Amino acid sequence: TQSAQSSQPPGSTATSTVTVRVPAKVNVQLSVGGLRADGFHGLANVFLAVGLYDSISATRAEAPLLTASGPDAAQIPLDDSNLAVRAARLLARRHGLAPDVHLHIAKDVPVAGGMAGGSADAAGALLACDTLWETRTPREELLELCAELGSDVPFSLLGGAALGRGRGEILTPLEVTGTFHWVFAIADGGLSTPEVYRECDRLREAAGTGSGAASVPDPEPAPELLAALRAGDADALAATLRNDLQPAAVSLRPALAETLEAGVAAGALAGLVSGSGPTCAFLMNDADSAARTAQALLASGTCRAARPTTGPAPGATLVRPL
Ligand code: ATP
Repeated sequence: TQSAQSSQPPGSTATSTVTVRVPAKVNVQLSVGGLRADGFHGLANVFLAVGLYDSISATRAEAPLLTASGPDAAQIPLDDSNLAVRAARLLARRHGLAPDVHLHIAKDVPVAGGMAGGSADAAGALLACDTLWETRTPREELLELCAELGSDVPFSLLGGAALGRGRGEILTPLEVTGTFHWVFAIADGGLSTPEVYRECDRLREAAGTGSGAASVPDPEPAPELLAALRAGDADALAATLRNDLQPAAVSLRPALAETLEAGVAAGALAGLVSGSGPTCAFLMNDADSAARTAQALLASGTCRAARPTTGPAPGATLVRPL
């Protein structure tokens, strides 16, 4: 309902602008099965949401419009291929509405960085438009729409920590004790996720193990890793971090090996490539060591930026109106 201070046009009962904040993610385990007939890979994917966020705002408009801000905004496509636009169109179609909305993305998650920034924007746009249009889509249905938009989108809505099976979209929330400290080393330029999967298949073929679903064992979550999350044990988690896409990302971007070395030399418990890269994630003991390691990583010249943060972080959250 309209409040006394609202800047709504007379007669309007809708909120003028809705803003949703959505976290980035790191995969603490990304186990990749063989290439399936449908072109996807089976995954055992343990997601952890971390405290780097994009904000997506939705405002009523005469016609669809997309704008973006932030240092990397120029790298975001502003046409219909943008995942936020696709999300708004999908929701509008579901409810028989016109997708006339101004979406604004305030981008802080690295673009094409392996941290699911585009997926975050899709989940944010869905929640923002659902709130703006008062369509009240049930949570289960929102998660289904997320899965239609991309394998990582349901987790962006959910946040926290979760196991993803299938393409990564079949989620089971995971219990985590406390907070883990991280540093993210952000590279210059992105990596294309499909290219990294192709390189993973190519490396498997070259190694003689085969890349098909028949030759690669079905991926399973590591019980020690789930136990480390449950216990809030950073040392145990450091010992079990695993990313099957890391060799492919490093093969396509050999300089990542130096970034990974620099982070561990600067005090990280362990480092790994985040998702399909090229962002590198470093697990830390505490906030102080995260701040120091971030400085040392930047000084090493092996990354463009180094961001200390924590996880798990909450999923897509309405921040305006509160
Ligand atoms: P993931 O970790 O899920 O593999 P990523 O973080 O590596 O993804 P994104 O930032 O999601 O990569 O972007 C991948 C590509 O998707 C970009 O290069 C861009 O062309 C396209 N894209 C579409 N919509 C968006 C968006 N809202 N923000 C960023 N990129 C987008």
